[in-house]
Amino acid sequence: MKSSKKLVLILGDQLDLQGAALQGFNPKSDEVFMVESMHEAQYVWSHKAKIALFLSAMRHFAQTLKKLNYPISYLQNSPLSIVDALKEKIQQEKISHLICVEPGEWRLKQEIETLATELGIELEMREDEHFFCSHREFLEWAAGKKELRLEYFYRLMRKTHHILVDADGNPEGGQWNFDQDNRKSYPKKGLGIIEEPVLFEPDAITQDVITFVEKVYDKHPGSLGAFRWPVTRDEALEALNYFVEYRLRNFGVYQDAMWTDTPYGWHSILSSSLNLKLLNPREVIAAVISAYKKYSLDLSTVEGFIRQILGWREFVRGMYYLDMPKMAQDNYYDHQRSLPQWYWSGKTQMACMQDAIGQTLKYGYAHHIQRLMVTGNFALLAEILPSEVCDWYLAIYVDAIEWVELPNTAGMALFANGGRFTSKPYIASGAYIKRMSNYCDSCQYKPDVRFGETACPITTLYWNFLIKHRAQFEASPRTRLMTANLKRISDEDQQSIARHAQHVLSHLNDL
Ligand code: FAD
Ligand code: SF4
Repeated sequence: MKSSKKLVLILGDQLDLQGAALQGFNPKSDEVFMVESMHEAQYVWSHKAKIALFLSAMRHFAQTLKKLNYPISYLQNSPLSIVDALKEKIQQEKISHLICVEPGEWRLKQEIETLATELGIELEMREDEHFFCSHREFLEWAAGKKELRLEYFYRLMRKTHHILVDADGNPEGGQWNFDQDNRKSYPKKGLGIIEEPVLFEPDAITQDVITFVEKVYDKHPGSLGAFRWPVTRDEALEALNYFVEYRLRNFGVYQDAMWTDTPYGWHSILSSSLNLKLLNPREVIAAVISAYKKYSLDLSTVEGFIRQILGWREFVRGMYYLDMPKMAQDNYYDHQRSLPQWYWSGKTQMACMQDAIGQTLKYGYAHHIQRLMVTGNFALLAEILPSEVCDWYLAIYVDAIEWVELPNTAGMALFANGGRFTSKPYIASGAYIKRMSNYCDSCQYKPDVRFGETACPITTLYWNFLIKHRAQFEASPRTRLMTANLKRISDEDQQSIARHAQHVLSHLNDL
């Protein structure tokens, strides 16, 4: 006989007591089911800190549920995949009704749906209410549009949710976007004092997890010595409050700036808490608006921050569900090279890559411009197979979940979908990195040298990319400007660049 129990599956990135999964939960008859799947930690070669963060946050969440008297079945260190563990549970207990929130990974969503059909059970897959924009709203917005661009979507979100708009729907400060004010580098004479973010000492649960991860996943990349991530809702709220109180004020102006041994800059480092659902984006935006008013902060910094959450974060999620599974397979430029080994070790002579990858291995974190214009830019210019690059990003960042990682990597950094939601490839030479950081000061390569022994590999590959795709770039008004500077380089020098680039491309592991 079938059980009348409803089983509520809660995944590791759905740690929200107010989330849709627990709505209508009946503690007398229903049960929560959570699985620590070792398979999930291994299907990409995950950073130790990412594994530890998920495990610790899940255990803390389960502890909270137990304190609140939720009946819960929690599988620790299961060798099974989530779906196999679920199948076993459903079959053993003759469950006929499964409830869950839509997973943030397309593959898992398909697998759960297939399982429910195979077992003939009722599946209630609820929409994730964590986001401002529902799937239906995004589909309606995207329908019939030739170009899907963040800017127009973001304006709609601002108006729909009455954020930084007046009663007539006009943007506060008279413009929608203050991006131009938010691109400064740090002063060349030095960083000044950066207010450090609040970090959390591991408690007993986290320490247990760290010991376990060190032992079982010892060959995985990254280290755990600097593990200080928020693992509970209380900690995530403390991190949010600290950020808006002390660090938000300089977020905007230095949003794109980079500096050696400065892993966080003025960034919020709230992405992992948001993505695990320890924080809700609505409360993040409310806290930012409240600090804006309380401290009369610059509108440019506040708008710049809100655009990331209300704009980009919602937009890439909409794009992910719109374009999967194609998004994971796209390879517009047909790039086929392997990811250089040093992406996993940081052992390269390029100072910018060394710093961005080095801090990634230490903390599981790099900020947006490091991901986009350092590691991402290089991967595109070096013609790396997009799926290898995407696997790296998914494995190596503590905030990486496919709905947000894939569109950013494949779509934004690698242009693998041919510009479905970006107007041109995000590529830059060493000159950009020199302008936005101090990396080049300590590098053995020279950012303004295009070929030869001291040439910056990024500069060489940048010009090579433009030479190679010149006809295509010139055919479009959006990219025509990018090749204009090529005209100032003699034919002879262009040949030398192309020759040197071939050498660089065939020795990527030696850079
Ligand atoms: P802040 O700079 O303080 O920004 C505030 C918040 O805005 C972030 O916490 C994040 O929630 C949101 N946000 C900012 N930019 C984006 C964006 N482009 N897309 C979605 N949300 C954004 N973000 C992830 O959360 N997970 C990922 O796996 C991820 N992979 C990325 C891969 C590449 C190649 C690139 C270019 C970007 C990626 N991003 C990813 C987006 C962004 O880099 C991170 O959200 C950000 O660096 C997280 O640090 P922070 O919390 O300090 O962000
Ligand atoms: Fe990076 Fe080139 Fe600058 Fe070296 S010279 S830090 S490789 S941009």
